[in-house]
Amino acid sequence: MSRNVLAQVSQSALRHNLQQVRTFAPKSKIIAMVKANAYGHGLTKVAKTLSDCDALGVACIDEAVKIRQAGILTDIVLMEGIFKEDELPQVLEHNFTLVVHHWQQIQALKNYPHQGGEKFKIWLKVNTGMNRLGFASHEFDEAYSVLKDLHCVEIIGYMTHFAQADDKQHTLTMRQYERFNEIVGKRVGERCLANSAGIIAWPQTHADWVRPGLMLYGASPFADSVGKDFNLIPAMSLQSEIIAIRDIAEGDKVGYGQTWENHHKTCKVGIVAMGYGDGYPWHARNGTPVLVNGQRVTTVGRVSMDMLAVDLSNVKHVEVGMPVTLWGKDLPIEEVARHALTIPYELFCRFTERVHVEVIS
Ligand SMILES: *Cc1c(COP(=O)(O)O)cnc(C)c1O
Repeated sequence: MSRNVLAQVSQSALRHNLQQVRTFAPKSKIIAMVKANAYGHGLTKVAKTLSDCDALGVACIDEAVKIRQAGILTDIVLMEGIFKEDELPQVLEHNFTLVVHHWQQIQALKNYPHQGGEKFKIWLKVNTGMNRLGFASHEFDEAYSVLKDLHCVEIIGYMTHFAQADDKQHTLTMRQYERFNEIVGKRVGERCLANSAGIIAWPQTHADWVRPGLMLYGASPFADSVGKDFNLIPAMSLQSEIIAIRDIAEGDKVGYGQTWENHHKTCKVGIVAMGYGDGYPWHARNGTPVLVNGQRVTTVGRVSMDMLAVDLSNVKHVEVGMPVTLWGKDLPIEEVARHALTIPYELFCRFTERVHVEVIS
């Protein structure tokens, strides 16, 4: 690897965070969310590391097949179910579980030329206010009874998704919870509501299953905190190195658009091999924190495609080749996200092919 850009992923941190989910929700089974390349952490390796959870959650069948092909036998839930009818044979072949959220999916199950005794295991999705996926309260009874009568279907349970669980004051979460219970009623089957924010902030909603994503990777779903506040450990450390150092005179500016100016007598600036071509956010403003050799510094000027600049004036000994951490254990990704006007979720998902993901124990 000529260009030293690396996302190091710690298996022990992932396992610790899974254990933390169990501590928060001791009575619930866990669907560990590994969609979107396990939030950028590497799909199959993360799935393997977390494979003693109760199920793995993905966005589509391609992700699910990759996990099976890696030899992982844990149950896998397709959180948006099938997109096309022709996915159904593969669903049975690999024993995937489907979320059913739309009439077209029910129609596809009805059309399935069913022979033999194999059944599609399904979660029925209920819309309680997110207004993204799921059957509305007036559709639910019918969706349920159609599915109930299909011989090829076994209803595992019912799911809904919170729209604002990251706001601990907001009343919507409890209203969604109550709506869900009203709609599902006393029907036989498991219940599953909480994402990371629900797991941490809304214990009443834990029910039979929880669906952690972000917290498994060690980040906080709340805008005003970091993973450490909930005894979570960042699983990823994004690393690079200093490739050039230069002295900047007073009044000189740095980078595209010349958006940062040196107001001191002199200033030492380091150039880091990391840019938006790697997935680092272009939006990161002047002053975004970065660690150089473990010391906290800040970015100056605009992020470019392959590089960014940092102010090294307060770092005593600097040299080319020094290690740089863009986020990780001692620099919460939540902080970087705030400076880039985004959320940790998006930062994790932005990596390009150029970033080598290395899994360590
Ligand atoms: C991604 C996802 C989750 C996980 O959410 P986090 O906020 O990352 O914990 C849970 N449920 C569904 C339906 C999802 O799509």
